Amino acid sequence: MSPPLKLYNTLTRTKDIFAPLDPKNLRMYVCGPTVYDYAHIGNARPIIVFDVLYRLLRHIYGEKHVRYVRNITDVDDKINARAAEQGISIRELTEKTNEVFQADVKALGCLEPTVQPRATEHIAEMIAIITRLIESGHAYAADGHVLFDVPSMKDYGRLSRRSLDEMLAGARVDVAPYKRGDMDFVLWKPSKENEPGWDSPWGRGRPGWHIECSAMSWKHLGETFDIHGGGIDLVFPHHENEIAQSRCAFHTGVMANVWMHNGFLQVEGEKMSKSLGNFVTIHELLHTEKFGGRKWPGEVLRLAMLRTHYRQPIDWTVKALEEAEKTLIRWQKYVVRNEVVVVHEPFLESLADDLNTSDAIAEMHKLTSVGVIAGFSMSGHAKFATPEAIMESAGRLRFCLQILGLESIADRAWNVTTVGNEVSAKIEAHITARNAARSAKNWAESDRIRDELLAMGVALKDNKDGTTTWEVRR
Ligand code: AMP
Ligand code: ZN
Repeated sequence: MSPPLKLYNTLTRTKDIFAPLDPKNLRMYVCGPTVYDYAHIGNARPIIVFDVLYRLLRHIYGEKHVRYVRNITDVDDKINARAAEQGISIRELTEKTNEVFQADVKALGCLEPTVQPRATEHIAEMIAIITRLIESGHAYAADGHVLFDVPSMKDYGRLSRRSLDEMLAGARVDVAPYKRGDMDFVLWKPSKENEPGWDSPWGRGRPGWHIECSAMSWKHLGETFDIHGGGIDLVFPHHENEIAQSRCAFHTGVMANVWMHNGFLQVEGEKMSKSLGNFVTIHELLHTEKFGGRKWPGEVLRLAMLRTHYRQPIDWTVKALEEAEKTLIRWQKYVVRNEVVVVHEPFLESLADDLNTSDAIAEMHKLTSVGVIAGFSMSGHAKFATPEAIMESAGRLRFCLQILGLESIADRAWNVTTVGNEVSAKIEAHITARNAARSAKNWAESDRIRDELLAMGVALKDNKDGTTTWEVRR
C-alpha cells in the first residue's frame, strides 16, 4: 500500500493529506502556454513537475481515474502583435508555435494530458460564465467591456493573502474610464476590425486571459476539481482572478481544493531575460549548441529539472546538466539488466511527501549502489551483490524511472559510443576470465561468471568454433 500523498496547498499554506473529491475521477488543471513564441526552459518547469504528479496520481489511483487538463492559450494580445510583426495570420502563428511546443514537451518525456483544450474553442463557455457573473451582480458591462467587480467578492485575495490595498499598490493596474473600481479586471473586451473577435451580448470582442482558464476547467473538469497548478508568478493576479470568476459564477466555496505552484528557474545564478542574453528555449537546448556548446537529450533536461524540489528556486547550469547526464548513463547501464518492474516503496514515500523528487532521486542512487557494471574487476573477484539482488534493484530502478518519466533511457542510444565501449571492454574482460576458468576446468567459476553477466542482462553464447560472443538482452 502506498503511503498517503501529501501536497502543499498555496491556498492554506499547509502540507495536507490529499483527499480527492472522487477517487474514481481525479481532476487536475494546469495553466498551459500562450502560443506566440517558443517555450523557454522556465516554462518547462511546470510542464515537467505536473507531468510527474500526473504519473504519480495515475500510479496511486489508476490510469483511467485521473483527468489532466492543460490548456493552450491561443487568443491573446501578444499573439496578435507577434503575428502582425511576422506578417502571418494568427492561426498560422498559433499552429506553428503549438507544434513546436508539443514536440518540445514530448522530447522532455511528458505524457499527453487527457485534454489540451484551446481557448478559441471555448468562447461559448466564457460567454456563459460572464453572463452568470453579470446576472449575479459580480460583473458589469461598460463601453463594450465587461469587468469583474472585485469588491463584490468578500474574500477576494484569499489565495495570494493580500488585502485590496496591498494588491492595488503591488499590481500594475490599468486605469480606465469604464472601470468602477481600480482592481476590477477585464472579462471581455471589444475587438477592432483587424483584431480577432467573436459576437457576444456585449458586441464583437474577445476574452480576457483569466476567463479562459475558468471556462476550460469548467468544461473539462466541472465547477470544482482537485488540483490546480502553475508557476508561482501565476498566484496573483491570474489564479486569484480565476478563483473569483469560477466561485462567483458557480456559487462554490472553492474552485480547486489544492493549489500548487512551482518555484522560479534562473540561469547560472541570474534571472533569465532576453536582455541579459541568457534566455534559452527548450527547442534550443534540444536542437542547438546555444547552451554549454552542445545539444542536450530531453532526459537530461528532465532529470536536471527534477533534482530540485519543485517549490524551491532552481538554478539552471551547464554543470547541473552534465551531472544529470552522468547519472542517467549510470542508471542506464544498471537498468538494462531487468525488464521486470518492481514497486519501490522508499521512492514512493519521498514522492508522496509533496512530490519530493530530490529525495526520490537519492533513493534511486541508493539502488544503483547495489553492484554496478563499473564495478567489474579483471580478477573476477569483484565484490558484487548476488545476481538476484542486482536484478531486484534494477527492477526497482525501472519502476522509479517510469514514475519520473525517464523510462526512455533504457533504450537510449546516446551513450552507445562513450559508455558502450567501456562496458564492452569490461564484458570482454569477464569472458577472458571465464575462458581461463574453463581451461582450468573450473566449471563452477565459469558458470558463476556466466550467471553474473546474465544477471546484468548480458547473455553469452559459446560458439562451435570455440569463441564466445555476447548480446545485451532487454
Ligand atoms: P507564461 O507563458 O509566462 O504564462 O508561463 C507559462 C508557465 O511557465 C506558467 O506556469 C509560469 O508560471 C511558468 N514560468 C514562466 N517563467 C518561469 C520561470 N522562469 N521559472 C519557472 N516557471 C516559469
Ligand atoms: Zn490559467
